Amino acid sequence: MSGLSLNAITKTFGDFNAVDDVSLTVPHGTFVCLLGPSGCGKTTLLRMVAGLEEPTAGSVVLDGADITAVPTHKRNLGMVFQSLALFPHLSVGDNISYALRIRGASKAEQAKRVEELLALIDLPGFAARPVAKLSGGQRQRVAIARALALSPKLFLLDEPLSALDAKLREAMQVELRQLQQRLGITTIVVTHDQREAMTMADLVVVMGKGKILQAARPIDIYRKPADAFVADFIGMTNLLPAEIDKAGRTVVLDAAIPELAMPSGMSKASVSIRPEDVHLTAPGNGVLDGTVSFVRDLGGTIETFIDIGGTAIIAVATPRERPNVEVGQEVGIELPAECCVVVKS
Ligand code: ATP
Repeated sequence: MSGLSLNAITKTFGDFNAVDDVSLTVPHGTFVCLLGPSGCGKTTLLRMVAGLEEPTAGSVVLDGADITAVPTHKRNLGMVFQSLALFPHLSVGDNISYALRIRGASKAEQAKRVEELLALIDLPGFAARPVAKLSGGQRQRVAIARALALSPKLFLLDEPLSALDAKLREAMQVELRQLQQRLGITTIVVTHDQREAMTMADLVVVMGKGKILQAARPIDIYRKPADAFVADFIGMTNLLPAEIDKAGRTVVLDAAIPELAMPSGMSKASVSIRPEDVHLTAPGNGVLDGTVSFVRDLGGTIETFIDIGGTAIIAVATPRERPNVEVGQEVGIELPAECCVVVKS
């Protein structure tokens, strides 16, 4: 297969499994985001793909060849780390052409490639500019160009955007994704930002405690989270207690939702329902009644917090969809069965 395969990879530090029996198939040209909380093993997994860390067990296969024992510099990778590690005393052009110089490329070849890459990152004519005189976003792009200078097979980035302010970071996420699509290069980015992962990835890999909890398209993870942790980590959700009643119906809080099937063998679980799927109605008209406890009006969206016997449910709507709900108001709530996902709690 053309692409990357990680086969039953484990990395143990002392008696601690930082990465625990991870297997993943990444087809050629896929943009992967490794996503998860601090310490879940994302960086360690990326470092094993890069050859900077040796797996305790398992193998890394690239385009059909086992590269587990191949040193980093022979893996044909481009890498960008959070620190960027640009050479501050060199010009933009000399930074980008660094790897070409090491390889003994001629001056003319270097200059041609630098111009190609500067065009790619939308900084034409910047070759002579000192790196010290660039903005944060420009430095970011130069680090990306430098990593791509040798046309690598695999592009690996560890929290590449986390040093940027929020607005620039969002813009760079779009740029990075568009660049990757133009080049069609297999790319793996480590991030702990779910919005970043949703923006860029074809394949989001959610990790927890060294294991893959779910690997799927962003929208599939959002719509069909594998468990309560994933549901809560990706976007906002309501996690509500659910159980089977004596009549065999699924009951969420106090609301019977007979159309919602529990997986066989499960009598207690949680139901994840996204705030945009919680609909408000008049008291008595929904499956539950509650009291509005807080309204967060963000302009474009309104988040309404509803207290139901001590449990808070958040409903999100646009101002057009939900005018005039006030704190203290009694409301009815609809929980459409097709929007409810039963997850292990
Ligand atoms: P972060 O988002 O904070 O960078 P991460 O998900 O990338 O976290 P890793 O850096 O892969 O996590 O670390 C996973 C676990 O392995 C952590 O508990 C970390 O302390 C441990 N670890 C990583 N490298 C080493 C090492 N060289 N020696 C011992 N423990 C390590």
